[in-house]
Amino acid sequence: MKENFIDFRAIKQLVSMQLVLDRYNIQFRKVNQHSLRGKCPLPTHTSDKSSESFGVHLGKNIWACQSSSCSAARQGKKGGNVLDFVAFMEHCSVHDAAKKLQDWFASGHVFPIQTKDQATREEKHGVAEEKQGSDDGGINKPLTFSLKGVDPSHGYIQQRGIKEDTARHFGIGCFSGRGSMSGRLVIPIHDDRGELVAYAGRSIDGTEPKYNLPAGFHKSAELFNLHRARAIENQQVILVEGFFDCMKVHQAGFPFVVALMGSSLSQAQHQRLLTFKEVILFLDGDEAGREATKAVANRLIYSHKVRAISLVNGGQPDQMSSEKLRRLLEPIV
Ligand SMILES: [Zn+2]
Repeated sequence: MKENFIDFRAIKQLVSMQLVLDRYNIQFRKVNQHSLRGKCPLPTHTSDKSSESFGVHLGKNIWACQSSSCSAARQGKKGGNVLDFVAFMEHCSVHDAAKKLQDWFASGHVFPIQTKDQATREEKHGVAEEKQGSDDGGINKPLTFSLKGVDPSHGYIQQRGIKEDTARHFGIGCFSGRGSMSGRLVIPIHDDRGELVAYAGRSIDGTEPKYNLPAGFHKSAELFNLHRARAIENQQVILVEGFFDCMKVHQAGFPFVVALMGSSLSQAQHQRLLTFKEVILFLDGDEAGREATKAVANRLIYSHKVRAISLVNGGQPDQMSSEKLRRLLEPIV
């Protein structure tokens, strides 16, 4: 029984519409970062009236055709998920569609939806990884304020190898005002639409905790730098662990980079990556980083082309020079 087991939920979430369209060699017009539009490819579509009736929402991983004759031929179903799409394309049941998707993309692996989060690494990220249970839909509200009096020319920033230009680009700086972020390096965190949702406060004088994040902030709901990386409209994205990894990779000339703010990939973060076709994993070269690379890759292989840069001997992107980063990244981007 076990080898016939198909996790429908996992397939729906993990196989992206983009990957399926690519397999059928279907090319659509990109309307915006979330949606595609074009001529309906389904065999149920017989009308020649519109060449724009078919739409795909990449973030939600769903499709729909606006033609009424087309949906009538599908018992009134306007659209659906990846499984429905393949079922209509192949004239088969949803169950058989799931089997096909598993054959096409899973190459013998089991869908790894149950992947456990990796051990916590407070040393680097300063905050404990959120528990698996909080992975399912925490939403961060936009902040109603932004911090004033943030100094991007502070010595600590240079000491971490970040140039002032880069600091300004990311809006980071040492905060001299009052409150819980006082005397800390503040790092603005935005949601996928570019709304400011939190500040991370990095201690610069050895004070614990190393990172302050607002209570109630759902770290696993966001990817640091996602809104900027998406705006570049690159098909590839580089995935790193921390804020400084991200800023260093950007500074080396690769602005299509996002950070997990940890070492595990949540369902929400995975969904957010669906607007890219290829993910280059560039996590730390310690034991935990290598384990994390495996776990994250095992989830992404069903939705993306995935490549991983494996660092050895504890190498970390945030400690590398721009030259070194370019030597590693240039051959594959
Ligand atoms: Zn149609």
